[in-house]
Amino acid sequence: MDIVEQILASRDIGRAELELLLTTGDKELVERLRSAARGVADGVYGKRIFMRGLIELTSHCKNDCLYCGLRRSNRTAVRYRLSEEQIYDCCETGYRLGFRTFVMQGGEDGWFTDERMCRIVATVRRRYPDCAITLSLGERSRESYQALYDAGANRYLLRHETADAAHYARLHPADMSWQHRMDCLQALKEIGYQVGCGFMVGSPFQTFDTLLADLQFIRRFGPQMVGIGPFIPAHDTPFAAEAKGSVQYTLRLLAIIRLLLPDVLLPATTALGTLHPQGRELGIQYGANVVMPNLSPRDHRKDYAIYDNKICTGEESAECRACTEQRMRRIGYETVVDRGDHASVTNKNE
Ligand code: SAH
Repeated sequence: MDIVEQILASRDIGRAELELLLTTGDKELVERLRSAARGVADGVYGKRIFMRGLIELTSHCKNDCLYCGLRRSNRTAVRYRLSEEQIYDCCETGYRLGFRTFVMQGGEDGWFTDERMCRIVATVRRRYPDCAITLSLGERSRESYQALYDAGANRYLLRHETADAAHYARLHPADMSWQHRMDCLQALKEIGYQVGCGFMVGSPFQTFDTLLADLQFIRRFGPQMVGIGPFIPAHDTPFAAEAKGSVQYTLRLLAIIRLLLPDVLLPATTALGTLHPQGRELGIQYGANVVMPNLSPRDHRKDYAIYDNKICTGEESAECRACTEQRMRRIGYETVVDRGDHASVTNKNE
């Protein structure tokens, strides 16, 4: 059996195999990895790509993650927050454009209290009973996660960032803890959310060992979604001068994750599209099956600046949707108007 078939059969990967697959210059081996991953994705989801409408609620954040352009110490970051009406307008625009999943993401902004956020979720739930609501609002209490779930949220994205506690401590300030992030992920899962974890590829101090730990964590945790994208330096952050992550590593890791978790929902991320003009298309060809066009109001897009040179900050939502659809069509994939739940899900929140 060759190395790709071995991973596929065992749904496991070791340190040596990981390093080989990421670093090899053997084009034929890389193509076998890619086509195996794409074959697995085609088997589960066919040529259908799910679209999620991303609404960036706020650029305020109380955290000070060393990699993020929105960290609280960044005095040059432009801060905005959407009003409730603006959020509902984004959803209405998105619904008319065919989106059936809304992803509400933001910095950890105390303005979005449980009361306010639950009202927003409940309103969107009432207006669009046929849509999935995904939240990506960072670390909150178990009670808060529960209240948001009860208000109608279905999914939660919280990247674990790194499965290695010592690595985590080098990416985050001392007041953030790896254990707390793990506890949040566990709570989200227990409450009943479809959960997404994930990490940046090429974050400072990342090694093959930390990457292996990420993959092993993902296997154990069994998330419904995995978000990975290359690290991209953000100006006025401690990591501004660090090297950016590798597009090749990101693509190969997408493929490996597809082999490890055949039916996982795996986005080709904006960060990948930022580092390569065809990054999202390549992501799909390496096994991703989700894209997340931006639905945020155009006036604020450039201000959700978690990293530099982010793409799609000048377009209207309709243009982003059309562009995404066209990009997928050009490589032989069809974007679908569907909630796009994970295969295992029976929905309680409908
Ligand atoms: N505050 C929310 C949303 C964070 S933004 C939360 O904590 O979940 C979503 C993801 O963007 C982060 O989890 C991180 O992995 C990624 N990200 C942040 N800064 C980045 C950078 N400089 N380059 C690439 N990805 C970055």
